[in-house]
Formats: sequence, C-alpha cells, structure tokens
Amino acid sequence: MATTGEQSRASYSRRVLFAVGEAGLFTHRITCWGRWGDSGFPGNQDMFSLLEAQSAFPQLDLQERVLIIGAGAAGIVAAAILNKLGLRTTVLEARDRIGGRIWTVTGPGAVPIDLGASWIHGTEGNPLMELAHRCGARLIATDRSRVALFTRRLQLVPREEIRRLAPLFQQLLSDAKQIAFRHRRDMSLSAGLLRAMLHRWRTLPKGARVLRWAWGAFELVLGTRTHNLSARYWDQDVDLAGGDRFVASGYLNLLRPLLDGLDIRLGQAVRTIRWRERGPVVVVTNRGEEFEAERLLCTLPLGVLKAGTVRFVPPLPPWKQAAIDRLGFGCLDKVILLFPRVFWNDDVDYLGFLTESPGGYAYFVNLHRLCGIPALMGFVTGRRARLQERTSDEKVVARAMKPLRRTFGRVPEPEQYWLTRWGRDEFSLGSYSYLPVGALGSEFDVLRCPVGDRLFFAGEATHRVFPGAVHGAVLSAIEAALRIAACARSDATLRRSVCALG
Ligand SMILES: Cc1cc2nc3c(=O)[nH]c(=O)nc-3n(C[C@H](O)[C@H](O)[C@H](O)COP(=O)(O)OP(=O)(O)OC[C@H]3O[C@@H](n4cnc5c(N)ncnc54)[C@H](O)[C@@H]3O)c2cc1C
Repeated sequence: MATTGEQSRASYSRRVLFAVGEAGLFTHRITCWGRWGDSGFPGNQDMFSLLEAQSAFPQLDLQERVLIIGAGAAGIVAAAILNKLGLRTTVLEARDRIGGRIWTVTGPGAVPIDLGASWIHGTEGNPLMELAHRCGARLIATDRSRVALFTRRLQLVPREEIRRLAPLFQQLLSDAKQIAFRHRRDMSLSAGLLRAMLHRWRTLPKGARVLRWAWGAFELVLGTRTHNLSARYWDQDVDLAGGDRFVASGYLNLLRPLLDGLDIRLGQAVRTIRWRERGPVVVVTNRGEEFEAERLLCTLPLGVLKAGTVRFVPPLPPWKQAAIDRLGFGCLDKVILLFPRVFWNDDVDYLGFLTESPGGYAYFVNLHRLCGIPALMGFVTGRRARLQERTSDEKVVARAMKPLRRTFGRVPEPEQYWLTRWGRDEFSLGSYSYLPVGALGSEFDVLRCPVGDRLFFAGEATHRVFPGAVHGAVLSAIEAALRIAACARSDATLRRSVCALG
C-alpha cells in the first residue's frame, strides 16, 4: 500500500528466488500480470484469458478437489480460475458474507459504502481495472494534493506551502533509507526520518507543522505507525502507474462477475487443517463438519495465521512459521460519518487537520464529491486504532468529531455512522501486512511458497511486489491457481500413463 510516486512503474518483471520446502531453491519468472512463464500453460496466462478459455485441458480428467480457505478477493479469484480449469473447488468462508477485507454495505439511497478497501491503486497493468471495466464500475480519480488543510478554526494552510511539502517529505523518506543503509543494521522508519530531519534542520520550514501532518497522513496510508516499519525496506513494493481510483459503485461488485458457479460455504470457520505429504487434506470447521480434498489453498489473513487460531496438523514447517512471525500486520480503522448536510469545502477530495496528533484523523475523505452523500470518512491506525477498538461507538464518534468541531465550529450531529474494528475481527485481526524493522521483502515470497504439493498459499501478504493491496491478493491467487492446476495436471498425466501400462 505504499504510495511513493517516485517508484511508479507500469510493468514489472523480475526473477524471484525462493525456497520451496524440502525441494530447495529454484527460480521462477513472474510479472505483475501474474503470468506464469514456466508452468507449461499455453498462451498468455492473465486472469481473463484463463476465465474465458473453453477448457485448458479438455483431454485430461483432472478428478481433483481443491479446498480454498477464505472467500476474500484471493479465494474468489482462485476458485473462479480453478473451476474454469476443470478442478472441483469448495470455498470455506468463516463469515456470513463474502469479500473478506472487501466489505461493502449499503448507505442512504442505496449508495454503497466500503468499510474495507476503497481504492484501486494504480490503473496500468492492474487486473482490477479489467474487472471494473467488465462490471461497469464507477471509478473516480482522487488526488492527495486536492486537499484543504486547516490549521485551526477555518484557517487554511496556503496552497504553496502544501505544494512544497510533497517533494520535501519524499526527500526525507529517501534520506531516511540511506541513513538506515549506512547504519550497521536496520532501524525504524521513524528513527530514520528523525535523523534525516536533524540533518536538514536548517532548511526545514519553520515549526515543521505541515511536515508533522504529512508524516501522520502518510502513516494512515501505510496502516501502521512508522516506528514499526523497516527504514530499509518499507517501500520495497512497487506502485503501479496511473494514480488511484475510488470505487464509487462498491468494491465488492468488482468480484461479482467471478461468482458464477462457485461452491462457497458461508459460516464455516476452519479450525483444523490436517495434511500429509501424500494423501488428502482434511479440514474441520467450527460446525464439526469435515471436508476433504487433494489440495488446499489457504488465503487466511496474516493476522489469523499469526494468532494460530487455525491449527495445522502437523504444524507448518519452521521456514514457513518464521515468515509468518517476522512479517507485520497493521491495523487501520475507518469512521464514516453521515451528516444532514455538507458543511465543509466541497471542492476537494481531502480535508486535513493540523491539530490532530499522529495515528488518527489527520484527514477525512470527502465522500460527497465521490459518492454524492453528505459524509466524511476518517481513519485511525496503529496503537491508537487498537485502543479505539476497545471503546464504545459513541466515544469513537465523539473523538472523530473533534477536528471537525475545532475547525468548523458548530457542526450538526451525524445522522448515521459506520465504524470498523478490524483488529478485533477474529477473521482478520488487523488490516494489512507490512515489513517491520529487520524483515526483508523475501518474507512475502516465503509466505507464498507451497508446502510440498498439498498446501498452497495466496492472499495480500503473499505478494512481494504488491503486498497490502487488493491487486496483490488477486495476482497471488492467479499464480496459486496455476500452480495447483500444474500439479493436478502432472498427477493426471501420471495416472493416465499408469492406466495405459495396464
Ligand atoms: C480498512 C482497510 C482499507 C483498505 N483499503 C484498501 C484500498 O483502498 N485498496 C487496496 O488495494 N487495498 C486496501 N485494503 C487491503 C485489502 O482490503 C486487502 O489487501 C485484500 O482485500 C485482501 O484480500 P485477501 O483475499 O488476501 O484476504 P481477505 O479479504 O481477508 O480474505 C480472507 C478470508 O478468509 C476468511 N477467514 C478468516 N479466518 C477464517 C477461518 N478460520 N475459516 C474460514 N475462513 C476464514 C475471512 O473471513 C476472509 O473472507 C484495505 C484494508 C482495510 C482493512
């Protein structure tokens, strides 16, 4: 989810080296479209050519069942592809809804409100754009520089001061990284930033109040505080070019075209996964029901894997568990306030508040411009989010109203509100992954590696290039589905050869 524009690239290709259980080390070529160069599949393996193919292997009866744990973006995309390739999939979903961290509810006048993901990050080479196009989604470009930044009561920070801010903050981030690399070992991004500011003390704007705000706003995008992040590698991911698009017609609608014919069992919280190197995988759910399949794709959020609430029997190998332990999982919560009327500057995408301390409400999104309802969307992150999750709805709303009251004076009470507690949601336990101090980008690769040819992994935290984002989850799912299909095909070919031998 990092958005350092400097690194934007339209396409991305690299050779990734990763460990695959006992099989040791090997390399595979991947690209940001999720093509699978070495799998032996014909043609361009992007999601849509896979979904539109008549049948990838008409000559082979794959006879395989695949269990997919989780009906978020990754689980749904993988199930749609595997179904199309002729495998029998069952998706087990703990909640009574699909979408996972994509969670669209209905607001006034049937306007969709997203409590999880809201934006498509980067339009070029992003498979979500094709999905959006296919379902006629309403996308609205947003721009972080379209912000009204308030010092206190109705006083705006001059445009020129805001314009100077972006390159300055970028420079400090880049200095922080260099400082961390010169240091003996990794340090937190906040430590790096403080040192960078110290070096440039003389040239920093007086009071640095806008800079402090930019820092707080930046943390809201990352979903964690900068003292948790690796100064060396926090931005090892890649931003796609083309800017952000707010999905005004509801994020979940992007996934709907994929649902046709899928077997999704809601309310089935997986408790135990029994696996062996040979033989079927058996899953037991909260209802005591058992499901069996040749292979299993786990798209559990990293927060759930970290908590160990789903038991793997035998336990996952140490190299996999180490990656789960080393990666970080942040917490970002939303507070959406619906007012009887608009009382704020309606010509901007964001309203920023210098009065706010780090961790929360540095800015609100103007949902009136984006969705046509008189509503504002604020965010809290890190420890502040985890603490806020323990307080009552009334207290959360009252706290969120503070910067609005300080700035606009007497403002109406919200008529309705929506707020999230992603950190306390037992099927997520946070918002999205990040690289903590001392961790490397390769942890994401290790999390993605299958365990033998039975257990496969996908989801946001398994994509090294686009972690934290929906398109990362989707691309990891395409790759996992193709891996599973490749294993199924080689087993089917083997079966056929054995039969032919009589
Ligand atoms: C507040 C917030 C804002 C965000 N904003 C954006 C954004 O604007 N743009 C963007 O690209 N990304 C955003 N993200 C991140 C994005 O939502 C996720 O990266 C993406 O949706 C993850 O998809 P996934 O399939 O990997 O995981 P999930 O969507 O979490 O799917 C995993 C599924 O597993 C299920 N599950 C959990 N435990 C069990 C169990 N025991 N048994 C069975 N099922 C289980 C869950 O219920 C869930 O449905 C945001 C996330 C949050 C929380």
